[in-house]
Amino acid sequence: PTLAVAFAIGALFGGLFARSRRMEGPVADLDRGLAANEFKPYYQPIFELKTGRIKGCEVLARWLLKDGSVVPPMNFIPLAESSGRIQVMTWQILRSALSDLQPLLKANKDFKLSLNVVPKHLLSAGFIETLRRTVMAAQVSARQIVIEVTERDELDDLARAAAVVSELRDCGFRVAIDDVGVGHSGLSRLKGLGANTIKIDKFFVDTITVDASTATIVEMLVALAKDLQMTVVAEGIETEEQVRALISSGVEEGQGYLVSAPLPFPRFNELVESRCLA
Ligand code: C2E
Ligand code: CA
Ligand code: CA
Ligand code: CA
Repeated sequence: PTLAVAFAIGALFGGLFARSRRMEGPVADLDRGLAANEFKPYYQPIFELKTGRIKGCEVLARWLLKDGSVVPPMNFIPLAESSGRIQVMTWQILRSALSDLQPLLKANKDFKLSLNVVPKHLLSAGFIETLRRTVMAAQVSARQIVIEVTERDELDDLARAAAVVSELRDCGFRVAIDDVGVGHSGLSRLKGLGANTIKIDKFFVDTITVDASTATIVEMLVALAKDLQMTVVAEGIETEEQVRALISSGVEEGQGYLVSAPLPFPRFNELVESRCLA
């Protein structure tokens, strides 16, 4: 009888393994990547336009495959989102980022780490609690963490979105509205959300030097931000000419290839140290 039981168990496990082997496709790949901790933070500096001083960084996810290739986020974030894996992935990336940056964050209380969070995750139950626990476990101050969220349909319920933003701010976290100017975000909604920062999309940076109406829009956003005590960060700056145009429109901070592309931690750390920040 023991033999029969052993056989039965063997058959059961064999069946399970065969089934899991048969589970293929992109979502199963994501799960394998998550189990193997293959989703890693890269870091792009955010700098003061007038001085070039590095004020913080944005965490941008990369999928590092075993063969050494690096998968960009547009090839896995949408699937992670639609398959419900984005939550686990986001926490994994945040924990790695906190462990990389902990010394830097502790030595520079003004240095800020910005994390991208999808609206659905932001609004989900327990988000703020898990964020608090994760940040506290790394002994990092909530004031040094910026949650970047893109305005999308999920944030249509302005009252609810604003309540979450307000609760985050009560806990000391900062909130940035991402990709402002493209798509969704009307000025009154921007106002109603109560964030700390607006991030102006690369589109405006690309056109500000060639199109006077872009400069006008950027100046309007800057005026609105000043009014609401928000900071403005411009994304995707590639030239000095763009820096000058942004400064004359009143923008104070930015990020872009001009200073650095997103880097893996060791190279980011070198960059920061070479600028005498650490
Ligand atoms: P985003 O949040 O708007 O991030 C800015 C994107 O612009 C990044 O692309 C960055 O590498 C790129 N970029 C920065 N400076 C320049 C520049 O000077 N020139 C050009 N051509 N591009 C520049 P990336 O890293 O491919 O990320 C794409 C998008 O994927 C992000 O857009 C964000 O929406 C999403 N994403 C990335 N990481 C995460 C993550 O951890 N969680 C979530 N939910 N979304 C993420
Ligand atoms: Ca972002
Ligand atoms: Ca953005
Ligand atoms: Ca963008």
